Amino acid sequence: MHVTAIVPAAGSGARFGATVPKQYLPLAGFPILVWTLRALAASGRIDCVLLVTPPGHEANCRAEILQPHGLTVDQVLPGGVDRQASVYAGLIGAPAETDLVLVHDGARPLVTPEIVRAAVEAAAADGAAVVAMPVTDTIKVTDADSRVEETLPRGRLWAAQTPQVFRAAWLREAHERALRDGFRGTDDSVLVERLGYPVRLVPGSPENLKVTTMADLAQAEQILRSRTRRGGGKR
Ligand code: C5P
Repeated sequence: MHVTAIVPAAGSGARFGATVPKQYLPLAGFPILVWTLRALAASGRIDCVLLVTPPGHEANCRAEILQPHGLTVDQVLPGGVDRQASVYAGLIGAPAETDLVLVHDGARPLVTPEIVRAAVEAAAADGAAVVAMPVTDTIKVTDADSRVEETLPRGRLWAAQTPQVFRAAWLREAHERALRDGFRGTDDSVLVERLGYPVRLVPGSPENLKVTTMADLAQAEQILRSRTRRGGGKR
């Protein structure tokens, strides 16, 4: 099975209040993106890596993030206006021999090689696999005035993380159909789900957080410190 990884890392980091894109910020001594790419490589299951950066940052990313840390990727591509557009930019660049496409957020540096392998194996067996965690909060749906309209039954709710892995043909069809329909989704799975393809959930980890705020960055540092104490911290 030829697996191509698309790493969308083209967010501006606006919610971070930082001037540099958040994936370039240091986490325990290395840029966030370096942790992410090392974890994917350590899985031993990825044949091709397509990194998607903010448009205009491609050369910068190679010179300042990849080369100094001895990392190589197959292509660095310019991203789009939202995550979906950035993943699509990667998808267009995926080699023809790709059987499975794995999409993993550049901003999730703490994914483990084990989770990556489990997601690839599930998708190889069933066609589509999404790493997810059961929701622990009670989720409410509101109207535009923050008035509760509905409380969802928690027992059936999962928070989708990445990696998300799909048969390449399914993901291409899903992105192209979404583009034609003007549908925008916040993950790739929803695009595949709306075509009726079955998607299997694979257990994730609370440690596989998406670094979105400064508080997330502090929490990620803490997790890495405790992994080092447990002897699992790889640098
Ligand atoms: O915006 P969100 O939190 O969903 O971002 C998840 C991932 O998608 C991040 O790694 C971010 O860099 C990436 N992204 C992207 N292109 C955009 C917006 C977000 O690649 N235009």
